[in-house]
Amino acid sequence: MNVLKMINQPQTSNNMRHFSLALIGTMIISVIGIGCGGSGGGLNFFSVEQDIELGRQVSQEINSNSSEFPILPEQSNREVYQYIRGITDRLLSTGKVAHKDEFAWEVKIIDDPETLNAFATPGGYIYVYTGLIKFLDSEDELAGVMGHEIAHAAQRHSTQQMTKLYGLQILASVVTGNSEPGMIEQIALGLASLKNSRSHESEADEYSVIYLCGTSYNANGAAGFFRKMEDASTARPPEFMSTHPNPGNRVQDIDAKAKELGCRGTSDNRGEYRRIKSLLQ
Ligand SMILES: [Zn+2]
Repeated sequence: MNVLKMINQPQTSNNMRHFSLALIGTMIISVIGIGCGGSGGGLNFFSVEQDIELGRQVSQEINSNSSEFPILPEQSNREVYQYIRGITDRLLSTGKVAHKDEFAWEVKIIDDPETLNAFATPGGYIYVYTGLIKFLDSEDELAGVMGHEIAHAAQRHSTQQMTKLYGLQILASVVTGNSEPGMIEQIALGLASLKNSRSHESEADEYSVIYLCGTSYNANGAAGFFRKMEDASTARPPEFMSTHPNPGNRVQDIDAKAKELGCRGTSDNRGEYRRIKSLLQ
C-alpha cells in the first residue's frame, strides 16, 4: 500500500474502510449461520460436545481448588448429598430437561456458610453453597433454585455468557487442551461470579416452574426463594442477586407461569428440610 497515495486520497481510504467493515460483517454473519445452535435462544458458537468437555475440565478444576471451592466432604455428609441429588433426580426424571442424558448432572455442595449462591457450569455440573441451603426454609424452595440452575446449563446459558466474557477462541482452546497455563483456573474462578443476563434469568425462572410442575412440589418454589432473597438483600446483597440479576416482576412471573401450566403440586417437605439443614450445623 502506497502511504503517500492514501494520504493524498482520503476518500479512497474511507471507502476501503467501509468495504472492510462490510466484509467483516458478512464474515460474522456467515460464522453465525454455521455456528448458531443454541437451544436457549441467542447465539451459541459452541457445540453440545464442547459444552460437555468444557464442563468436565472446569468442574475438575473446581473440585481440586479447595481453597477457593471448599467442597463439603461426601463421606461425612452422605445424607445431605443423597437428599440434594434426590431433588435433582426428581427434576431430571420429568422428561422436561434438555440434554438430560448427555450432560453430567453432578451436584456438589461448597462448604461456605457465608455465601448465598449457586451456579452451574456448561455440561451440567451444579454447585450449591451451604450458605444457600441454610438460608432456605423448605424443599420446594431448594428444588426451585436447583431447577433454575439446571436450566442455565440445559438451555446452555452458561456457555453463552462465558463466550461473551472470554471470547470464543479462549474457550475453544480450553476444550482442545491448548489454552494458556492458568486459563482454566481463571475460568473456574470467574464462573462463581459469572453474571447471567436478565433474559437468561427469565428463561431459567420459567424452566424452573416447568420442571417442578412435573413433580409433587409447589411449582413456584423458586418464587418463595426470591421473595426471601429480596427481603435479605436490603440488609446484605446476597451473591445470588449479583450473579442472577432480577429480570423484573420475577416473583409475579413465576407465580403466573405455575398458574398458566395448571400445576397441582403442593409438597414443600418442610420438616425433612429442617432435619437435613440441622445435619449441616
Ligand atoms: Zn440465574
